Amino acid sequence: MPTWSKYSTLFHSERFGYFLYSTMSNCLIQVDEPHYRFLQQLEMEPSVADNGFDTSFISLLKAKHILVERGENEKLLMLKQYKKNCNCYGRGDLSLTICPTLACNFDCSYCFENSQHDTTVMSEETIENLLAFIRKKSGAGNIHIDWYGGEPTLAFDTVELISNKMLAKGMKLHGAQMTTNGFLLDIKKIKALNDLKINSIQITLDGPKTVHDRRRKLHDGRPTFGKVLANIDQLMSSSYKGKCDIRVNIDKNNRECFPALREKLMKRYKGKKVTVYPARVKGEESSTLNTGEWAKYCLDLYEKYGIITKYMLYPKSNDTGLCIAHFTNSFVSGPSGELYKCWEDVGMREKTIGNVNSDEPLSNHELPVLYTVGTDQYANEECRKCCFLPICRNACPRKRLSKTETCTHFKQYIVQCMESTYDIFKTAETSCDLLNKPFETLENKGYRIIYPSDNE
Ligand code: SF4
Ligand code: SF4
Repeated sequence: MPTWSKYSTLFHSERFGYFLYSTMSNCLIQVDEPHYRFLQQLEMEPSVADNGFDTSFISLLKAKHILVERGENEKLLMLKQYKKNCNCYGRGDLSLTICPTLACNFDCSYCFENSQHDTTVMSEETIENLLAFIRKKSGAGNIHIDWYGGEPTLAFDTVELISNKMLAKGMKLHGAQMTTNGFLLDIKKIKALNDLKINSIQITLDGPKTVHDRRRKLHDGRPTFGKVLANIDQLMSSSYKGKCDIRVNIDKNNRECFPALREKLMKRYKGKKVTVYPARVKGEESSTLNTGEWAKYCLDLYEKYGIITKYMLYPKSNDTGLCIAHFTNSFVSGPSGELYKCWEDVGMREKTIGNVNSDEPLSNHELPVLYTVGTDQYANEECRKCCFLPICRNACPRKRLSKTETCTHFKQYIVQCMESTYDIFKTAETSCDLLNKPFETLENKGYRIIYPSDNE
C-alpha cells in the first residue's frame, strides 16, 4: 500500500487557492477544494487511496511520487545523486576561467580580491603551458572560456593572443564570456569580440550615477558611471553579435535603487540583447544581505515591480552541479599559471590546486575533493533527513565548507516562491485566453499541473 511521501506538502494560499507540491518530483499541482480535502485525508490515512474517489488523480499522485511505495524515496534520491555525479564528474567539455591579470583599475570597497595591485600579466611561457593544459583537458570536447580578473580589459592583448592561438591550433573554442567593469571597453576592443568568439559580456553597475560613482571609483577617485554607460552604448550599437548582461550589485545600502535603474536601462536598450539583473554582493557583514534577506528582496521585486529573478521562482531539481567548484573539468587559471577551483579563491596562494607551469599541473587534490565529495549534500546525514534535499541546489560549496549559510532559502520561503510561480502562470493563462489559445482549466478535472508545464 503506497504512503504519503515526506517530500509532499499541501498548502492553502489565501490569494490563489489550494496546492500540492513534491520536492522529489519537483512539481506544483493546483487542486480544487474537494481534491484538497481528499488529500488532507489521504495524508493522514493512505488507505483512502482505494476508496474510488478519483482514480486518474491517484495515478497522477503515484506518478509524481507524492504517494510512494516502501523504499521508493531512497531509490529516487540515489538516482538524483547519480545524475548529479555523472554531471559533475564527467570529463566531456572543458570550462575554464582565465584571469590574464589580477590587476584592476577600480577600487570597489567590497571587492573580495586582495590582489588588485598585483600587476602580473600572463607570460608567453605560461600561455603556452596553459594551451597545453587546455588541449589535454578538453580532449575531443568543446571549450568554454570565461575571461575574468582582476580586470581582463587591462590585459586585452593577452586575451587576443590566447584566443587566436587556440583558434589557430584548431581547438574547439565553443564560446567565451567576459566579466568586465566596462571602463576600458572601447571601440577597438568591441570590434575584436566576434573574432575572439566572445558572445557574452557581463558588466557591473552599482546603481544610478550618484550611487555607482560613490561605490565604484578608479584608484585616483575619479567616477566611472558615464564612461561605462557610454561604452555599453557603443557595444550595443556596434556589429557585436553577442549579448550584454548588466549585473547590478546589491547590498543593504543600494537595494532601493535597482527597480528604477533597471527600468531606465531596459528602455535605453530596448530591442537589444541586454538583460539587467540584481546580484547579491558580499562585502562587510553589516551591509551584506543574508540568504533570507536576499530571497525576501527578490520576492518583493516581483510583488512590487513584476521583476522576475531566479530566486523567486519554483525551485529546480538538485541533480546538477552548481558551479565550477563542483565540476571535475572546470578550472580557474591565474596570471602566473596557478589553478583554482573557485572564483573567490583567486589570488589566495593557499587555495591553489596546481600550476600549468609544473610537469604535473594538478598537484593539490585535497581542495577539489573537499568542494565536491566534502560538501555533497546527498552524503550528509542532516541533509538526508531534510525534505528540501531534492531541491536544495544553491548551496555554495565554499560556504558549505566554511559552514556559513548552507541551507536553501526555499526552506523559509517556499510558499511565497510557489505563489510567485503561480502568479506568472496566471498571467500566461490570461494571455492565452485573450489569444483564444487552449489552456487547461482547473474546472476541467479538479486539478492541474502548474510546474513543470507540459511543454517543459
Ligand atoms: S564555490 Fe561558491 S563562491 Fe566559489 S564559484 Fe562556487 S558558488 Fe561561487
Ligand atoms: S543544506 Fe539545509 S536545506 Fe539543504 S538539504 Fe541540507 S539541511 Fe536541507
